Amino acid sequence: MTVTRFAPSPTGPLHLGHAYSALLAQDLAQTAGGRFLLRIEDIDRARARPHWEAQIYDDLQWLGLSWPEPVMRQSDRQAAYDAALHRLWEAGLLYPCRCARRDIAAAVSAPQEGAPPPHGPDGLVYPGTCRPATPPTGPMPQDVALRLDMARALALRGPPVFAEEGPDHAGQITPGTDHMATAIGDVVLARRDMGTSYHLSVVVDDAAQGVTLVTRGADLFEATAIHVLLQALLDLPRPRYHHHRLIRDAAGKRLAKRDDARAIALYREGGQSPADLRRMIGL
Ligand code: GLU
Repeated sequence: MTVTRFAPSPTGPLHLGHAYSALLAQDLAQTAGGRFLLRIEDIDRARARPHWEAQIYDDLQWLGLSWPEPVMRQSDRQAAYDAALHRLWEAGLLYPCRCARRDIAAAVSAPQEGAPPPHGPDGLVYPGTCRPATPPTGPMPQDVALRLDMARALALRGPPVFAEEGPDHAGQITPGTDHMATAIGDVVLARRDMGTSYHLSVVVDDAAQGVTLVTRGADLFEATAIHVLLQALLDLPRPRYHHHRLIRDAAGKRLAKRDDARAIALYREGGQSPADLRRMIGL
């Protein structure tokens, strides 16, 4: 049974890109005779707002979408994230990191021959400043960022492999150990201010919801290797992936949260119908 989901963050209005993502997820579930789920990704307490969450439900209903209740909200899920983090900690795969963003920038911008410092899915690839030579022991520390020791994780599970069904990279994806080490590196799995991260939460929750086909924008394609590796480390089932094209504005720039001019709510107020929106985004 195919289970898809739409997983917005309530940090701004949904725009045409979100409409495409949500409708595609529902269409793919429907075509396969499966189920479409909604999940609210509100781990960023500093930016999430109840009125944006209310507007998500309202906009999606207006678009004609429906989903089973109750909706999973990541702010209710810290115990599940803690359990996953403890498991990785016990396996010696995490270490505490106290580097600020500017420390990392300074460490990687030291004068060097050749290419500019590598960027991964989360920005600059971490240079390993806090990485210990042997895995830390004792209780898992709180109130500090925790990073994945990528080299250890790869030594344990090997590089990730996943099935991609989206238009740009359809086929079997095998990022390889070198790519994981140099272009992704030791990503943060628990942010100090959140006690979790996008990568960890999305993996734990897709498994908890029984998602079998992850549909999302092509901007998250690079992060998928991290997610598939985490699934292997946590013994979670591996879904299939469909990364879809991004909706762009007239100038060809992809839409971001700040592009409020493309908010679904504004099209509604302007008298457009859900069918008009489907046409505008090519569905
Ligand atoms: N919450 C993420 C976002 O708003 C999407 C996560 C995902 O689909 O994996 O961009």
